[in-house]
Formats: sequence, structure tokens, C-alpha cells
Amino acid sequence: MTRSPDPIRQIVIVGGGTAGWMAAAALSRLSANGTTRITLVESDEIGTVGVGEATIPPIQQFNALLGLDENDFVSQTQGSMKLGIAFEGWTMARPRYLHPFGSFGFDMEAIKFHQFWLKLHAQGLASGIDDYNLCATMANREKFARPVPDPSSVLSQITYAYHFDAGLYAAYLRRYAEARGVTRIEGKVASVPLRATDGFIEAVVLTDGRRLEGDLFIDCSGFRGLLIEEALNSGYEDWTHWLPCDRALAVPSANVGPPKPYTRAIARDGGWQWRIPLQHRTGNGYVYCSQFVSDEQAANTLLSNLEGPALADPRPLRFTTGRRRKMWNRNCVALGLASGFLEPLESTSIHLIQAGISKLLALFPDRSFNPTNEDAYNRLSAMQFEQVRDFIILHYVANDRPEPFWLRAAAMDIPDSLRQKIDLFRACGRLFRFEDELFSENSWIAVLLGQGVLPARWDPLVDTIDPGLVRHNLDRLRAVFARAADAMPGHGDFLARTAPVR
Ligand code: FAD
Repeated sequence: MTRSPDPIRQIVIVGGGTAGWMAAAALSRLSANGTTRITLVESDEIGTVGVGEATIPPIQQFNALLGLDENDFVSQTQGSMKLGIAFEGWTMARPRYLHPFGSFGFDMEAIKFHQFWLKLHAQGLASGIDDYNLCATMANREKFARPVPDPSSVLSQITYAYHFDAGLYAAYLRRYAEARGVTRIEGKVASVPLRATDGFIEAVVLTDGRRLEGDLFIDCSGFRGLLIEEALNSGYEDWTHWLPCDRALAVPSANVGPPKPYTRAIARDGGWQWRIPLQHRTGNGYVYCSQFVSDEQAANTLLSNLEGPALADPRPLRFTTGRRRKMWNRNCVALGLASGFLEPLESTSIHLIQAGISKLLALFPDRSFNPTNEDAYNRLSAMQFEQVRDFIILHYVANDRPEPFWLRAAAMDIPDSLRQKIDLFRACGRLFRFEDELFSENSWIAVLLGQGVLPARWDPLVDTIDPGLVRHNLDRLRAVFARAADAMPGHGDFLARTAPVR
């Protein structure tokens, strides 16, 4: 007979960075029924990692879950709109390519759009693939408008995410969560006692002796993984052999001109530099590999490649790329940096926090902690991390840069899952999206072509369609996208009108 669950009564979140406050905000609705109390403990002395300012479009689902007003959210986080990422200098042949959000063109007769583009481009009858993606067309013109709901309008295709100030984002979510009953405690966790019977976490004990007991603990304590690793020894799968960058320097700089509606990822000798445009400043950072670049060289590279003056000293960060072997262990779920780290090349970490929260809600336990929930969570999380990992490795493996760091990357063995994908694309331009994979075919096409991976042939079915019709459709599409983008306001004007800094 089905029995009523024994509900979780107390959730303790350790950490008040982006992960902690995202979790607190999303879980706060559980406290609405008065059964579940949520407490978040964070240490002002330790602080947060303070980076993590570029996102991808699914964040809109998170904002919708919270019921946020977009203008208010962008304004309060001094944010800007993001239509994709510009990769600069990643291959010698192409100085720049875009990974835009949204789709390239339209499929015809169930044949993928990019297959028609491959044929026409090879024949000199089509321009760069960016011209057939509305978000790319907007990004290249630095324009922005919101999508319209009418699916027959070309403007319904606009897909976007945000850049925001990480500190302001955490503060914004904190206000949201506290207003919905989450209790915040300032303090430093000193120990994490486990139950003798089953090794579950019993409580977290603060340096001043306060003891916070809980049924469910969310570890958002950052790289250390205070609960998931230091207390529960969940293990870490190290992916440094594929993604050897292990350090970053981050520095804000003054804006020069209005913010661009896209992130920039600029290849450098031993890694790459990000540029994230906000309304009040630009976030910059150099992600590099310490085997190839010294900290001093990295600082010189970063500081000599800022557009405006630096607003602070560069802040060093160290990390090991990989994932926690168990992101849910007993009565503890790790989110954010405590669960693993993938370099921010495709702005995926905040998304992985969101995906972790969604899975936790979908598999939310009661106090019996049936282990099947934990197993399912760990299986799905591992798959998501691995799919993102493969996509990031793709940017490195398909490069023709001459520096030792890049030569090593081009020569390395890559995961079979990625090798199969690249081989299939190289043969005939085919791609398949597996198991709810985060990155769509459009994303893979943008990066594969951008990195110079060209298929040997186009899909033979393309030749069954009237070439005149195909050319007409592509020309029309490019013209429609260009006209639509030209009619939009500049991104800076859009922000000033809809989400000004208060
Ligand atoms: P943290 O911000 O480190 O927060 C940890 C919290 O735990 C803090 O509140 C701290 O005080 C608390 N804590 C720790 N120990 C204790 C203790 N003993 N007692 C009490 N409290 C404690 N992600 C993106 O999506 N897009 C990006 O563009 C992006 N760029 C990045 C660039 C770099 C160089 C790095 C390193 C990461 C980047 N990320 C990015 C990842 C992103 O920054 C993180 O996913 C996000 O900030 C979440 O961090 P966190 O909350 O897990 O950890």
C-alpha cells in the first residue's frame, strides 16, 4: 500500500555564493506550507568566488520559476543581454566566429538547414553561416529586441541570456529568498558531525558553537566541498588531462562604449581571456594553464589586453577541472563549485547549478532517503557534466594555433563520445542530440564550423531539392534577418530604456 511520505522538515544550505542563493530562492517555495524550514549559513570572512557573470538561455526558465520581472532583474544586477559568444583567435584561419543562440535557418523537407548551407557555401553562393541566424545577425550589429510570441514572426526566434554582476545577483536572490522565509546565518562552519548509524550528516557546527541540525544538507561551499568531500569523501573525477587550464585571474575594467550583446572569448598563448560586458563595468579574466604560463605572464597578458582601465587588482583563482563522483551522497546534495568545475568557456556553471536544483526538485526525497533518488540524480548529473565537458574540449582539439599549449591540445586523446561526434560530422555534416543534451545541434554546428571542422560532403538528400528554390530561400532568409536586426534598437539604447541602472 502506498504510504504518506515523511517530509523533510529542515534544509540547511552551506554557502551563500551564486549556488547557495539560487538553491535558497528555488527551494523557498517548499517553506510556503510551513512544514519545511530552510536555513542558509555563509561566512562573510571567507566570501564568495565572485566571478560567474555570463549565462545561457535556460536561465530564463529559472527566472520564470521564481517569477522574476526581467527589467527589474537586469537593472538590479546591472546586467546586459547576451545573444551568444564571440570566439576570437581560436584558429589561425578564422580570426573570429560566433556561437550564437537560436537556430540557423529552417529545415527543408526534413533536411537540416546547415546541409543546404554547406552546398551553397562550397559553390560560393552563400555567405558566412552567421548571416542565417537571427541572434548572430543581431549580435554582429550590436542590436537587441525581445522576442515576440507570434510564431509566424521572425522575431519569435530571438533567444537570449544575460550577463550580470555576480555579487549583485547573489544579493538579489538573497532578498528574494529571505522575503519567502529563508533564514540566513552568518558564521563559519567548523565541523560536520556524522550519524554513527548510517554516516548521514547530523548537523553543521559553527566556530562559535552554534549547531544547525537538518534532514537535508545542500553543499554550496565552493571548491572545497566542505560537506560532500571533506565530510563525506565522495571522490573527484579529475579531467585535467583533457582540460588542463587550472588557474584564472579576474579583473574588472571600465567600459568603453555601450556593452556588447555577447560574451567574448579570446584565445591567448596558454589559455583564453573572457570579456563580459555589464552596464557599469566589464568583467575580464584569463583562464590559463600553469604548466605553460606563469602567473606573472598571465597578469601581463590580461592587463595589457583590457579595453578600459582596470578597476581593481587581478584576483587569482585556482581550480581542478572535473566532477564530484557523487554529487548526491546520503543526505547531502552538492551544487555549484562544490559539485565540480568546468572552465567557463561556454558559460555553463550557473546552468549546471540550475540543472542540479531542477533534478533535486524532480527527485525530492523524504526522510526515508530512498537511495534510488540519489542514484538517478548522480547518473543524470554525471551525464550532463560529461556532455558539457565534451563540448568544451571540442574548442581546444580542433585548433591550429602554434603555441605549445595549443599544440598539446590538438594532439591529445579525446573522449570516445566526442570522437564519434566529430567523425560523424566530418563525414557528412551529421549531428545527433543525445538524451536531453544541453547543447543543441546548432551549437555544435557553430563551434565545429567555427573551429574549421568541415564535412567531406553534404547530405546527399540535399541534391534532391531544386537548387534554385534552395538559393532563393537562403537569400530571402538572410535579407529578412538583416532587415529585422537593422530595425531594432542598439543594445545600449535597449538597456537604457528598459533596465537602467538605478
Ligand atoms: P562560492 O562563490 O565560492 O561560494 C561559496 C560559499 O560558501 C561562500 O558564501 C562562502 O562564504 C561559503 N563557505 C565556504 N566555506 C564555508 C564555511 N566553512 N563556513 C561557512 N560558509 C562557508 N559560471 C558561469 O555560469 N558563467 C561564467 O561566466 C563563469 N565564469 C567563471 C570564471 C571563473 C574563473 C570561475 C572560477 C568560475 C566561473 N563560473 C562561471 C562559475 C561560477 O562562478 C560558479 O558556478 C558560481 O559562482 C557558484 O559558486 P558557488 O556558489 O558554488 O561557490
